[in-house]
Amino acid sequence: MTTSMRRRLEVTGVVQGVGFRPFVHRLARDTGLAGTVRNVADGVTIEIEGDERRLERFEQRLIADAPTLARIETIGRTDLAPRGVHGFRIESSAPDSASPVASIPPDTATCESCLAEMRDPRDRRHRHPFITCTDCGPRFTIITALPYDRRSTTMRDFARCRRCAQEYRDPADRRHHAQPIACHECGPTIAHWVDDRFTDGTDIVLARTHDDLAGGRIVAIKGLGGFHLAVDATCDEAVARLRGRKHRPDKPFAVMVPDVATARQIAHLDGTEVDALTGPARPVVLAERRTNSMLSRHVAPGNPLVGVMLPPTPLHHLLFDAVPNARSPVPVALVMTSGNVAGEPICYQDDDAFDRLGTIADSFVTHDRAIRVPCDDSVVRIVANSEMPVRRSRGHAPLPIRLPFTVAPTLAVGGEIKNTACLARGRHGWMSQHIGDMGCLASIEALEETAALLAQLTSVDAEVIAVDRHPGYHTRRWGHQIASGRPVIEVQHHHAHLAALLAEHGLDDEPVTGIVFDGTGYGDDGDLWGGEVLVGGYSSFDRWGHLAPVALPGGEIAIREPWRAAVAHLAAAGIDPVDDLPPLETASAVERTVIERQISDPGRSPRTTSMGRLFDVVASLIGIRHRISYEAQAAIELEHLAARTLGRVAVPPLQFPVDATGTIDPAPVVADIARDVRRGIDTSLIAASFHLAVVDLIVTLADRVRNEREVTAVGLTGGVFQNALLTSLAMSRLQQAGHRVLVHRTVPANDGGLALGQVAVAHHRSRS
Ligand code: ZN
Ligand code: ZN
Ligand code: FE
Repeated sequence: MTTSMRRRLEVTGVVQGVGFRPFVHRLARDTGLAGTVRNVADGVTIEIEGDERRLERFEQRLIADAPTLARIETIGRTDLAPRGVHGFRIESSAPDSASPVASIPPDTATCESCLAEMRDPRDRRHRHPFITCTDCGPRFTIITALPYDRRSTTMRDFARCRRCAQEYRDPADRRHHAQPIACHECGPTIAHWVDDRFTDGTDIVLARTHDDLAGGRIVAIKGLGGFHLAVDATCDEAVARLRGRKHRPDKPFAVMVPDVATARQIAHLDGTEVDALTGPARPVVLAERRTNSMLSRHVAPGNPLVGVMLPPTPLHHLLFDAVPNARSPVPVALVMTSGNVAGEPICYQDDDAFDRLGTIADSFVTHDRAIRVPCDDSVVRIVANSEMPVRRSRGHAPLPIRLPFTVAPTLAVGGEIKNTACLARGRHGWMSQHIGDMGCLASIEALEETAALLAQLTSVDAEVIAVDRHPGYHTRRWGHQIASGRPVIEVQHHHAHLAALLAEHGLDDEPVTGIVFDGTGYGDDGDLWGGEVLVGGYSSFDRWGHLAPVALPGGEIAIREPWRAAVAHLAAAGIDPVDDLPPLETASAVERTVIERQISDPGRSPRTTSMGRLFDVVASLIGIRHRISYEAQAAIELEHLAARTLGRVAVPPLQFPVDATGTIDPAPVVADIARDVRRGIDTSLIAASFHLAVVDLIVTLADRVRNEREVTAVGLTGGVFQNALLTSLAMSRLQQAGHRVLVHRTVPANDGGLALGQVAVAHHRSRS
């Protein structure tokens, strides 16, 4: 005879709208427990009664077997007096359960069960492009209001047929309460457009699409969060045409393939990469490209990585399935790049897409389920055996990040490129999807809409606005404009990077050594910072050290044309930028005159301490890249050049001197590289020794700060740490030296993570 116990479990996280209560009901029956389950404001409350062993098994399985889309954050336990009840019931929701805190799931890739049905000729959803269930399908991108039910999604225009309605109501059905439930009879349909000619019918549309792709044409395809531009990734001509029409000469395109086996034909994938690829968020995974693969050389020119992704929706799966009785072959790999015009937000509405993509795409595949929220693909890279986000978007937004402190309602507007916003209250920071570069009006409008949507989904009314300090950032201006009396807290760019890193790791406000190596951000002294050693936490920081400032001749243009920054670095190292060194090799006569004048009068150019720029400078010094067509292009090429040699050949050492004030002098490194170039040393060897010099520098800095101050860890943040080679080497060397090392695993190291840090700093500053 065992004694009976009663326990209340308060579960928070994403546990509403994901089939959690029916799951608890089944679990209680399986484990032989009595009690109840109901939705409450911030989650689900369960009361269970039975013997202790069963209670424990229940709790274990509650976590282990939770529905795919559920994200359990915390479980509060209270023991109660047993009541001797029998049976288990789902109770109706508490009146305040409409409060939406943390309850919106992200969009999720089609599950195996739905895929199996879609491919089963006897199933009533055979080849249905919108098959979905409680565990999979669109969520965030179709929500129009709360509480989350069919009426508040863009599915409200589709009246459920009798059979779908039955499945929806049946607690035993795997589509119980699946809001986007649909079938051929009642669901959305796809259509194919060429000019004004339109065709519908799933198989005809897909057959036409295959004809287009096989003919090398560019097809704009409406997906979960917006349009992609698709072409056959194995066809040189088609990919080159897409590059020409998109005015995108070099930036790599992502490639979609039907399955892991095909992914392995184009990229080397380890277990962690396969996990990322097949995970429910279905991100683009950056992996090492196989040489001599079937991919066109135009997919990622000059880049040994390839971004691979598996189909996130049934429609995308169908693109790779044979159409009965069709003549064109099925594609094996498709370029799938965001459907936008360079620099603008992604197109997600049909009319806008016809309008803006009309000069790029030859045809369109659309559907009549509206997208409420535009949402780009997420991008990850594996660094030291774990995922490091490069872009956190589809599949993650709007999942909140759990904060290690409790904040007043705050809106952080982010930075200027790769932007995201963050709305926070209490212990939650809701990071937006990727919004993009803020240089155009459409981007500011997208930011505005995103902020409004987050506010609506979370019922958070921001009382504080956090912005970057850069006087030229559009987001800063916008933040001040919308403040109307609310305090606006300006956060230094690199402090925000560091705070984001600490917040995602759940750290307290204690000082760490922040190695913040970045492109450029506005510094407290008016210089453009980016090679910073900051000692601090959320409330404040000391600028312990930094790269010595060097002129950035002409400002912005020297970022797009690294040869200009290289000439400035040569001048700072006392080297005449003469013709036997590569940086001037592509400069015109006029450009030479201009740069000479700028160098002789450095006071007229901004100064920068940026480590990102120094990577560009080295790329130009060794002659591999003088002008870039996408952000970080030169640094990416330098990394890959270094990776070819590193570990295979002994590299000559280079060293950065660090003086007593923490100033890091790049001049000796620049001078040594110039000498090696003149001697004709292999460029790959130089690239490798430069990487090792930066790693040595990081360890030296960390050791010195640890000797001088009480710090708990070393944090590596800023865009430069997207360099997997640098980051993994620095991590292992720091760990060997006994440091606790923090790198980004939740938000990007680039400016896509800034908003989280702005929330953290704003919170701690407004308290003090
Ligand atoms: Zn499913
Ligand atoms: Zn139906
Ligand atoms: Fe930055």
